[in-house]
Amino acid sequence: MKRKLIEDSINYLKYVQKKKGFVVSADSLVEYDLEVPDENTDIEELKVKIMIDNHATEYKEKIVSDNIVREAIPSTLLKEEWMEAASIGELEPKINKCEKCSLGKTRKNFVYGTGNPNADVMVIGEAPGADEDEQGLPFIGRAGKLLTDILKAINFSREDIFICNILKCRPPDNRNPNPEEISKCEPYLIKQIELIKPKLILCVGTFAGQTMLRVKEPLGKMRGKFYNITFGNTEVKVMVTYHPAALLRNPNWKKPTWEDVQLFRSEYDKEKK
Ligand code: URA
Repeated sequence: MKRKLIEDSINYLKYVQKKKGFVVSADSLVEYDLEVPDENTDIEELKVKIMIDNHATEYKEKIVSDNIVREAIPSTLLKEEWMEAASIGELEPKINKCEKCSLGKTRKNFVYGTGNPNADVMVIGEAPGADEDEQGLPFIGRAGKLLTDILKAINFSREDIFICNILKCRPPDNRNPNPEEISKCEPYLIKQIELIKPKLILCVGTFAGQTMLRVKEPLGKMRGKFYNITFGNTEVKVMVTYHPAALLRNPNWKKPTWEDVQLFRSEYDKEKK
């Protein structure tokens, strides 16, 4: 009976998903014992509940595991054209008109990411700010300049690596991204990782770290070590360190950041040997 209920719910939600475009997972239906939606169900409300529950469930797994396996494209998403993109260049025009969340209406530019399409290293931040939104490029404001300097100090140029964000559009007034925006946008990032196939990823800031590791730990607990994350068929070593904007506010974090990025560079050198 329960199984039938779940199947009906999923089928119905998949149908609505196709019409309106949103994500649903079987786990959230099981865990929260959702009723079969009918014509009186407020689909918008249900959609937001499922998304928030999805993230809450994932974040409940508090332990920072060293080995995380992630689906390349979540099986809960229906097939969309962008999923077939065969290269990083091919993907951009397929997603840069995205309006799956409200940020699609308020952005000036979609900030896809820049750099080497075959990079061994990716840097992932939170979301575009005002400068990035204006120009359509990631990390070009004050924090971006500091990031460029940090990378230079460990012998990486921006052209060698690929830089992007969890969210491709700027949240108004630089507010924190919300769970709905993350669940809509993150599959694009996972696809980028799958296409680039980097060996190492540096997540800058609490938000990027928590999203990639699926935890709610403070930055001090996440930093300073590597996590193995498998995205589809791509295994990547992921490190989290302070966001350059945080370093501009609090210079005490420069020393641990310097330790982290040196460790990051030596792991890269080991990989390249
Ligand atoms: N902060 C980020 O996290 N990303 C950017 O692109 C700019 C500032």
